[in-house]
Amino acid sequence: MSLVLLGPPGAGKGTQAARISQALGLVHLSSGDILRAEGKASSELGRQAKDYMDRGVLVPDDLILSMMMDHIRRPDAAKGFLLDGFPRTLAQAQGLDARLAEWGRTLDVVISIEVDDALAIKRLTGRMSCPKCGRIYHETFSPPAQPGRCDVCGEALIRRKDDSPEVVGQRLKTYHQETQPLIAYYQEKGVLRPVCGAGGVDEVTAAISKECQAR
Ligand code: AMP
Repeated sequence: MSLVLLGPPGAGKGTQAARISQALGLVHLSSGDILRAEGKASSELGRQAKDYMDRGVLVPDDLILSMMMDHIRRPDAAKGFLLDGFPRTLAQAQGLDARLAEWGRTLDVVISIEVDDALAIKRLTGRMSCPKCGRIYHETFSPPAQPGRCDVCGEALIRRKDDSPEVVGQRLKTYHQETQPLIAYYQEKGVLRPVCGAGGVDEVTAAISKECQAR
């Protein structure tokens, strides 16, 4: 199965992608996580992407497309993959479709997780994550048992630099300008399934699972 999770920053894509990919046995490919790993490894790609990421604007399409296709092509993704944070522009979506078509494949389902800007801002500016295991917390909605420490591995939790209020505003603006048009693109292709992202984590997971089963 090939699945895309679409939605603004703060929709809960990362949290839902981890749960859904595990439940369905799919490889979870998060463009943001891959870019952050490249940054940590000080690779050329990580270096090129850093400035864009810090400003909350998009990394150029050609860099992203070749990076993601490199992961989609790997043997572990052959049984199925879940794309999270990619594609984010019409050019990326068209590039992805063209490359999948070369292998006789298409996207099966595109889930659009819908949340309004006010909720997205609340979620992002209170978000914390564990640098070791990647678990995501929120200071109000899902706080760790011990303040500032991961429940799983005890590591000190960190906040992403681009979750600051100023950068969050830019990321939402970028989403509305560049990514929102993909909703109509996938609707036209008949693969779009909208899901309300405003509920609790379990509720949203159940709604996404239902759409995946109904395809
Ligand atoms: P995310 O973790 O998905 O919020 O992504 C963090 C940042 O990585 C974004 O603000 C962009 O700068 C960059 N990024 C992630 N995915 C993409 C993409 N598909 N296209 C361009 N830039 C991306």
